[in-house]
This record gives sequence, C-alpha cells and structure tokens, in this order.
Amino acid sequence: MPLEFVTVPCLKDNYAYLIHDAESGQTALIDAPEAAPILAELQARGWKLGMILLTHHHSDHIQGVPEIAAATGAVVLGARADATRLPRLDRALAEGDQITVGGETGHVLDVSGHTMGHIAFIFPHSNLAFTADSLMAGGCGRLFEGTPGTMWASLSKLAALPGETLICSGHEYTTSNLRFAATIEPENPALLARIASIAAARSEGQATVPSLLSEELATNPFLRAGLPQVKAAVGLSGASDAEVFAEIRARKDKF
Ligand code: ZN
Ligand code: FE
Repeated sequence: MPLEFVTVPCLKDNYAYLIHDAESGQTALIDAPEAAPILAELQARGWKLGMILLTHHHSDHIQGVPEIAAATGAVVLGARADATRLPRLDRALAEGDQITVGGETGHVLDVSGHTMGHIAFIFPHSNLAFTADSLMAGGCGRLFEGTPGTMWASLSKLAALPGETLICSGHEYTTSNLRFAATIEPENPALLARIASIAAARSEGQATVPSLLSEELATNPFLRAGLPQVKAAVGLSGASDAEVFAEIRARKDKF
C-alpha cells in the first residue's frame, strides 16, 4: 500500500509533510518549520511521530525540531555533510542511504545547490519526492551556497525520476515562479495552462504543492535549460545546459 501523505502549511509560506504507513502505523515528518501546526495535525489524525527527516539547515525548515522531538520522542535524521548546522542528528545520511517507513523503503539524493548538503527523500513505490528548496513548483531554490553547475546536476537527478512522481517542495512560491517562467517561454502552452490552473487554485486558497514531475518537466524553466528552444530563448544557442541554467537563475534573481 502506498504511504499516506499530508501537506502541512507552516509559517507564512512554508510546507512540511507527514507520511504514514497505515499497516504499521509508522509516521515520518519531512522538515519542521514550526511545531504547532505539525503537532496539531498529528493529534487530529492520531498518528504517532517516529522520525523527523531534515532536508537542509535553513531555520525555516528546522526550527520546530526541538519542540516536536520533545513532544513525540521522534528521532532526527539529516545530512552528514551538514551535521554541524543541523539540530543534533540521531542518524546522519548521505546519498544512497535508505530510510524505512513501515513497508516502504525510501532513499536519499544529494541535491546541493540552494545549500551544500541539501538532501531530498525519494519514496519510489508511493511516487513521492521531498525536494524542499531544490526543485520547487515552477522553480528552484536560490543558489546561496552551490554553483549553477552543482544545482543543475542536482535538478538533473530529480528530472530522471518517473514523470508520475509527486514533487513535494518547501514553499508556496508557485505563482511568482510561473510569472517568471512566462518571461522565458511566453508561448509554452503547458505553461500558460498551468498559470491559469494555479491562479484558480490560489483564488480558492489551495496549496499548489505537491506537483507532478511531468508537469515540472513541461513548464519549469530550470528543468528545461537543456532544450534547444529554451537556449535560443535566452540567446544562448549552443551553450552548455549548465550555462543556460546559470543564465535563467541569474535572471530570476533579478526578477
Ligand atoms: Zn532554504
Ligand atoms: Fe526554505
């Protein structure tokens, strides 16, 4: 049976996620922006939290850890490469490591770029990828620590997952991300359709995450830097994929 998952809005525009294996009762949390909404969701569902999975060290992803760990006794897992900047880890992870939630085995990908040591959690049987501030709905995280080449390599790993993978990212930035995307590919029909459907969702107060990887591949300019029409659109026909990604990222930083 696939994992159940719940999107938990936190802070102003962050998302945390709970995953739950109904058979075993095991529950894990991905990122801890703040304790109250997460503890309330656990209580409402009667789920007992066993594990907190951290994607990266930024405070808007970890600051709820002490309170949630104290309230639930959950163990904390995060990147070994970032252990000095994360809360105390009960288990330190690196790419390729496996995590078990009930009957399902997930694995860790290194998706550095937004920060060095940013990891993603992939649960292939449930088609879930927890990407936080690496691949985001319609965009990607700002490059605070990595080079464009590092982030392009990270996004390429995520792009290789099955198209039906649900990308569970960390923020509600989709509207502005797509507004930017339209400056790169103003005539992409899939992008125009997505802008309309996201506007409808937001007008009803709905979250725009998770999103399907296939939809990201069709509309997210940061995944499309390798396409000839996108290279041409930014005046870089013949440049490398990573160079085109760098140009798109630089434009977004000024957008
Ligand atoms: Zn971040
Ligand atoms: Fe963040």
